[in-house]
Amino acid sequence: MRRMPPLNLPTLRALAGVPAPEASFESLRGFGRREILRGGAALAAFALLSRTPVARASAWPAAADSPFTLGVASGDPDATSVVLWTRLAPDPLAGGGMGPTPVPVRWEVATDPAMNDVVRSGEEIASAEDAHSVHATVQGLVPDRWYWYRFIVNGVASPIGRTRTFPDPRVVAQRLRFALTSCQDWQAGLYTAWRDISEQDLDCVLHVGDYIYEGGISRQAIRQHHGGEIFTLEEYRNRHALYRSDPWLQRAHALFPFIVTWDDHEVDNNYANDVQEQNAPREAFLERRANGYRAYYEHMPLRREAKPVGPDMNLYRFFDFGRLARLSVLDTRQFRTDQPCGDLLRVPCAGVFDPSATMTGAEQERWLLRNLLLSRARWNVIAQQVMMMQMNYAAGISADQQLFIMDVWDGYFEARRRILEWIARYRIRNTIVLAGDIHSAWAGDLKPDFDRPESPIVGSEFVCTSVSSGFQTDLVGLVTLGIPGNPHIKYFNGLQRGYTLCDVTPQAWTSHFRVASTTSDVFAPVTTARSFVVQHGVPGLVPA
Ligand code: FE
Ligand code: CA
Repeated sequence: MRRMPPLNLPTLRALAGVPAPEASFESLRGFGRREILRGGAALAAFALLSRTPVARASAWPAAADSPFTLGVASGDPDATSVVLWTRLAPDPLAGGGMGPTPVPVRWEVATDPAMNDVVRSGEEIASAEDAHSVHATVQGLVPDRWYWYRFIVNGVASPIGRTRTFPDPRVVAQRLRFALTSCQDWQAGLYTAWRDISEQDLDCVLHVGDYIYEGGISRQAIRQHHGGEIFTLEEYRNRHALYRSDPWLQRAHALFPFIVTWDDHEVDNNYANDVQEQNAPREAFLERRANGYRAYYEHMPLRREAKPVGPDMNLYRFFDFGRLARLSVLDTRQFRTDQPCGDLLRVPCAGVFDPSATMTGAEQERWLLRNLLLSRARWNVIAQQVMMMQMNYAAGISADQQLFIMDVWDGYFEARRRILEWIARYRIRNTIVLAGDIHSAWAGDLKPDFDRPESPIVGSEFVCTSVSSGFQTDLVGLVTLGIPGNPHIKYFNGLQRGYTLCDVTPQAWTSHFRVASTTSDVFAPVTTARSFVVQHGVPGLVPA
């Protein structure tokens, strides 16, 4: 593993091969192939995609004395609106450095990358209460088209970001392409996956959690967290700022709208609702949860309706990409009952089969079932955190024993059965479940009863591997041995980091498992390990 010099933003940029702050998009266009490959690939793609020359644009990334050190982002698009995000933070890793004063921030949205044709603009007040973050909702946009945007504060312009609206929900869109990502432990590896994502032609990015990790410093890691385990609001803010200081993650945010949901590490490992991993007192944990939720909102391109109140935040919501796909995005942390018999690999106890155990809470479950029932979409997507398909880890070593991971849907048997039986009963078409969390890539089919071969296939699931977080390699052998005894599972890869690229048309859903050869070099090759396809109207995935 390559040792890194002490971490700061200029060092990071230098390591990532990102050009000096004073460079503009225009000057990048003159770069040679080597420079383009190392630093400007996304920018070159940017210019290419726009099909018009970049005439004038601000520096990328922001200059060291700029307030836009954390870049820009957009998210939660619908057919006519999108959220634009930035955070003013001249001193991002130490509280932000903005002081107590509210600051007016102007935003502009244009139809061209040079920002000549500004079609929408407005002003938001960035205040210390929100860590000087900005969540601007841009309304009245045209469906299914790309826009460019920037922020201006005291005459200083932010880098220019690009975003898009989704097609009108009544229109059968012909193609949706997005990256499914999760688990980007800063200390576990570099963001080779984000570098590759920023070179793809995508409509959006779906992040299903573990955007940050809450732990302390790991001395032998390739790059270090700043400070110990985080608890206070300021600590969560600084941790988000550290992660967002990565130039490749910043670049992906600037290039594509993101749809995000959290998992556990945005607050604490394996927490469930108000129950902390080590069962800390409820009140203390809820205060910590409030800090984690607030910093999460402040750093994500979420709609203002998501702004948390104390330890409560509305994160589950759905998106229609024309009539091609409906994405129901879940929150399986805030409302779940505690893991039934310990968090990890266990022989199932009675609690696993308790019908009152829940992953979503009753209200969100009703919302999801209704969403599926009323959907007219060609593909019905449930985008959420933890693996839904059953995995009996004992299958390879014992004929009659079962071993489940209790933190995933295997620990919530009846809640899962209710959803999958609903899909079967109401013939919800082309259901695709997406997940992350497990730091390994999986593909398989979903059945209301995984133990009965005659139980029908009601959907398929794709689980992305981690961007950087490590998988317990001692489990790889056990899983490999166990797969034949879990015949609905068609693919497992626990050895490589990356993401899943999903390519959706009215005829077929194709998922490509992209893997980095290493995460100790951000420029290491990223290739497709395997691809699987689900044909419209044909249950079950097959190799592509
Ligand atoms: Fe994780
Ligand atoms: Ca997790």
